[in-house]
Amino acid sequence: MDVLAVPAFDDNYLWIIHDGRHAAVVDPGDAVPVLAALQAEGLTLAAILLTHHHADHVGGVLELARSAVSDAFPNIPVYGPAREHSRIKGMTIPLHGNDEVKIASLGLSLQVIDVPGHTLGHIAYYAADQGLLFCGDTLFAGGCGRLFEGTPAQMVQSLTRLASLPGDTQVYCAHEYTLSNLKFAAEVEPGNEALTARILRERARRERGEATVPTSIALERATNPFLRTGEKEILESLQKAGRLAQLDDVSSFAALREWKNTYR
Ligand code: ZN
Ligand code: FE
Repeated sequence: MDVLAVPAFDDNYLWIIHDGRHAAVVDPGDAVPVLAALQAEGLTLAAILLTHHHADHVGGVLELARSAVSDAFPNIPVYGPAREHSRIKGMTIPLHGNDEVKIASLGLSLQVIDVPGHTLGHIAYYAADQGLLFCGDTLFAGGCGRLFEGTPAQMVQSLTRLASLPGDTQVYCAHEYTLSNLKFAAEVEPGNEALTARILRERARRERGEATVPTSIALERATNPFLRTGEKEILESLQKAGRLAQLDDVSSFAALREWKNTYR
């Protein structure tokens, strides 16, 4: 199984999972580059997988399903979060946490994980046997999504669930936000050597024009401040900034998320 990055808009990645013949696309915010990539690679679209209702993730669904080449992709199933069904045009198969998605032509099986926070219905797709996670705007490389609809407590639970996956799980998030995320990470945890090393590595990759995604669960556990809110240095940084009201995981996560919202 291969995963192909299709860059879109300013900093989105639309992901195409394929075996050289069949493909599933995750969060096609724009149909045009997806169709171009499918054509270039000679792939037949077998399924569309959506993580949440934001336009940069679902904007290309109708066009993909009804495009001029739709004869080549008849009746593509469009999977998405049940709780956002009414907000996503073209979604045909609503999913709940712990559901299993089987894409027969690809031989791909994905577990649905509920990850509310960025939006209330946000879901992630986890292929355990392949070690692949597609998590939309929940866990980012070096950061996490903004809380547009959910509470800090929900996001902490969602991130904790994702962080508990095997360390070598490849994490395919939906945006290239890594360098700005890591800049903030270094502000709150300057003594983290793994983080310092990562920043140099990711900067070099961007300078070469490469994506910094996928990342891995192990690397996120070691360097992502939003998975490390209990670390002494992070708590001290929050305290020094006058942002820590209470000493518990949800409060420190909420304080960190709020700080990041205005950090430049
Ligand atoms: Zn979003
Ligand atoms: Fe997004």
